Amino acid sequence: MQSLYWVLTWACHRKCAHCYDDRFRPYVRSALTDVVAEGQRAYEAILANLPDDMTWTDAAGARQPTLIVMAGGELLIDGVREELFYPALDAIRRRWPDAPPRLSVQTTGDVLEPEHIDAMLARGVTTIAIASIDDYHVGMKGERKFRFMEKIRAMMAEKGVREVSLGGAKSAKLRAPDPAARPRGGEPTFLFSAPSLNSGSANFGRAGGPGPTALPMPATRRTFAPAGRGQRTS
Ligand code: SF4
Repeated sequence: MQSLYWVLTWACHRKCAHCYDDRFRPYVRSALTDVVAEGQRAYEAILANLPDDMTWTDAAGARQPTLIVMAGGELLIDGVREELFYPALDAIRRRWPDAPPRLSVQTTGDVLEPEHIDAMLARGVTTIAIASIDDYHVGMKGERKFRFMEKIRAMMAEKGVREVSLGGAKSAKLRAPDPAARPRGGEPTFLFSAPSLNSGSANFGRAGGPGPTALPMPATRRTFAPAGRGQRTS
């Protein structure tokens, strides 16, 4: 299996009007506890059902680690981060102690703090995808997204996490790095991701629009979500 996109929880702090799924919404008090408990119940069962060998064969015949992309909702909000997200990362390391999968985290980034970066890197995360950088997402309209990107860049630089790009961005204001500069070995990296960034349309100017977060995925993937309600593709 080349990669797996894992929706660990429906909980999200935003209320984007275009959100494709009404399960991704703010949860408060007991509703947050309940939705986090759903994710807590699910992750051990999901891990137990994944293959013992989390590798795949590339075109050159070499075995490569499977990529697991951890996503929500939003995994870094209070009530989710310590209760569900970090324990799930720890459980992944326990499940495959000798040949762990590659770990990527998809986050909106607006609740990201330096200590979260430390905690994720310490648990084996090598890629942090800052998703939803476009006018469609709450809080990202207009110039705000560019100020937000600079704040993230400064935080990542302090932690030695290098920016990479998936390509496709057209606006010089994005200051996207050369997509040819790929990660080296297990080097921690981050990237900005949005439908418009990755399609090349770079449409940052209008309100309303297509679906939420986007992270290009290889052709062969599995998608998991709590309570078995997510799509599953191959
Ligand atoms: S579009 Fe993304 S950030 Fe917005 S509410 Fe939905 S899951 Fe959350």
